[in-house]
Amino acid sequence: MTFADLRQKLKSGEVSSKELVQEKIERIKTLDTTLNSFLTVNTDEALNQAEYVDKQIASGEPLSPLSGIPVAIKDNLCTKGIKTTCASRILSNFVPPYESTVTKKLLNAGAIMIGKTNMDEFAMGSSTETSAFGPCLNPWDITKVPGGSSGGSASSVAAGLCYGSLGSDTGGSIRQPASFCGVVGLKPTYGRVSRWGLIAFASSLDQVGPFANNVSDAAEILQVISGKDEFDSTTVDIPVPNYLETLSKSIKGMKIGLIDNCFEHDGLATEVKDSVLGGASLLENLGAKIINVSCPRFNDGIATYYVIAPSEASANLARYDGVKYGFRSEDEQSLIEMTSKSRAIGFGSEVKRRILIGTYALSAGYVDAYYKKAQQVRTLIRKDFDEAFKKVDILLAPTAPTTAFGSGENINNPMAMYLSDLLTIPANLAGLPAISLPCGFDKSGLPIGLQLIGNVFEEAKLLQIANQFEEAAEVYKNRPKTGFTL
Ligand code: GLN
Repeated sequence: MTFADLRQKLKSGEVSSKELVQEKIERIKTLDTTLNSFLTVNTDEALNQAEYVDKQIASGEPLSPLSGIPVAIKDNLCTKGIKTTCASRILSNFVPPYESTVTKKLLNAGAIMIGKTNMDEFAMGSSTETSAFGPCLNPWDITKVPGGSSGGSASSVAAGLCYGSLGSDTGGSIRQPASFCGVVGLKPTYGRVSRWGLIAFASSLDQVGPFANNVSDAAEILQVISGKDEFDSTTVDIPVPNYLETLSKSIKGMKIGLIDNCFEHDGLATEVKDSVLGGASLLENLGAKIINVSCPRFNDGIATYYVIAPSEASANLARYDGVKYGFRSEDEQSLIEMTSKSRAIGFGSEVKRRILIGTYALSAGYVDAYYKKAQQVRTLIRKDFDEAFKKVDILLAPTAPTTAFGSGENINNPMAMYLSDLLTIPANLAGLPAISLPCGFDKSGLPIGLQLIGNVFEEAKLLQIANQFEEAAEVYKNRPKTGFTL
């Protein structure tokens, strides 16, 4: 069911918002003890909000676009009066006194916030296993990870625990879990969506974006959360187009670039490669032109990212000192001791690894060799994209090199874990919008994701192509009988 279907049912009285919320809460109660997609379930407030929407409907008041629809929010987005932990011990009792811009916009659009979702601690990870509150599992196969860091936002949509959700993407954290869980996930252009109230990981890369069951729902969420925000000076003041209007337009004559470097990597699973290339052929059948393009620096993205992201993280996370908020180690004798113990106990090991790498890369004597060099490579990566977009409208690549990997498989091997972001990171470094959508299944029945990368502020084109693909591919019609045991 799409948001449009739900709106219809709500308006006609076929279903009430309260029933929608109750149904999801019941489902969370039965399934989420296993999945662990939610860190907080907002039962009472969600039911109150639903009752309010039902009264609006009964009195014939005009409805907002998302009125009465239950959605979930990643736990790194501040929600006023509702615990926001970033899946970290250091923020385990943090209750924000303010609402993030994106959640405020969703609430103003009538959406009902059903809960806060599990994630990798401070959004650092690719499997939702670094959460201080236990891992989240993949609903397609609970021995597999849901991806990360927005694993809870992806698995909750995939398992039908909500109708859509918000995640954040610094190096792939929306697209990779969307791919692993068989849902749609979109990372907007840097500056399209406000970061105000998003707990910072790497500020020059972080963007908030939607997860949804289908492209049009993702477009609806993006429509609501986009736009200039006076509280975030990195948001750009250009008009937000109507994303829904262009969804059904033909893509005949559009030029789609296959990034050849993405298909040559050793770690790319054959089934993923075949399925994504099959997706490209389908777009060709729809009238698009497929052109091979080369982005020579694409594969340098990962090394570049793992200097820049930890550097920014080490600065951003310096604020957690146990003084004003967050976890504080008790009975320490001095300020230094209190601060260092609070951080030592409060942060998990992946977060500490990032702080150490970042502090090192930014320290005197190394900053030019590492941080500055990484920024230079970042510029070259962006230039490759600029060149490519002179020839094509959009770029196509797999979202992740593999389907969902096993729980525990990569947790002790950070290099292997980092490699799962190989294909998503370049879009963050260049600030480009990108979407992941299901394009097939591997032989064990796990979903495969296809990624489309657009030029800056071309979300409408991304969504249009994605929607045409979704309608033609009917991926879920051919859903294998295996998998999805829940
Ligand atoms: N997996 C990547 C990391 O660990 C990206 C995370 C993200 O996009 N938040 O940094």
